[in-house]
Amino acid sequence: MKKLRHPTRWLRYSVLATILTLIFYVAFGYGKRSFEAFCPFGGMESLWGLYQSGEFSCTLGPLNLSLLIGVLVLALIARKAFCGWACPIGFLSELASRFTSLFWRRRPQPSEKAEKGLKLLRYVVLVAALYFTYKSEELILRGYDPFFLLFSGFGHGSLGIVSWIVFAALVVGAFLIPMFFCRYLCPMGATFDPFSKVGMLKVVRNESSCTMCGACQRKCPQNLAPQSVVKLRHQDCTLCLECLDACPIDKTLELRAMI
Ligand code: SF4
Ligand code: SF4
Repeated sequence: MKKLRHPTRWLRYSVLATILTLIFYVAFGYGKRSFEAFCPFGGMESLWGLYQSGEFSCTLGPLNLSLLIGVLVLALIARKAFCGWACPIGFLSELASRFTSLFWRRRPQPSEKAEKGLKLLRYVVLVAALYFTYKSEELILRGYDPFFLLFSGFGHGSLGIVSWIVFAALVVGAFLIPMFFCRYLCPMGATFDPFSKVGMLKVVRNESSCTMCGACQRKCPQNLAPQSVVKLRHQDCTLCLECLDACPIDKTLELRAMI
């Protein structure tokens, strides 16, 4: 029987497609809750209101907080696995990137210095989102949030033409730079960073069998370089395991639990 290529990717895409379908199902009004109840960042946006008045903001509720706690605990074990295995925006970004790769194989990547600078933007977004949400007691990010705009169909809280421009820019960005929103702008990604940095599961490289061919980095959606380290501790690793699938030498890259 023919061996399935990229077995982990198919498993991961099946999980992601199921979650995406469920969110659309809820967004179309078939569930008991709003689709916003399934956003862990809603838990972050609720923290100040809960501290101040014991109440959740707008449509948010206990499920948002439970999800936030759950994904942060998960990050201590499996780093940003939520981004690679559950987030519908991450999934759509990856599909956009894969589509572009069909006809633009070697996309230019920002230099290392530019990449570091651009990644700081997600902390700016995080601080701005929390500051304005806590100050106004409204979910101020809605008009700029691809998750809300997509699943609400630019519903209540969107900012008309401004939201369309922001959304269009994010879509263009997704086709030009792999994982554009996730890498540079996602406030949930910024929240994960300190937890992911110490996450237990890691991609580990066997130096003696590695040929430094670079296939692992070329396939990494986050443009990380497993070939340049022995233990990959980078906070942006989503444990998508594309690098393991791509490595041509058996047992050179492995997933291991370690401190
Ligand atoms: S794909 Fe495997 S052999 Fe090639 S550089 Fe990466 S770890 Fe080394
Ligand atoms: S290093 Fe490997 S597991 Fe981590 S994000 Fe890149 S391809 Fe995925």
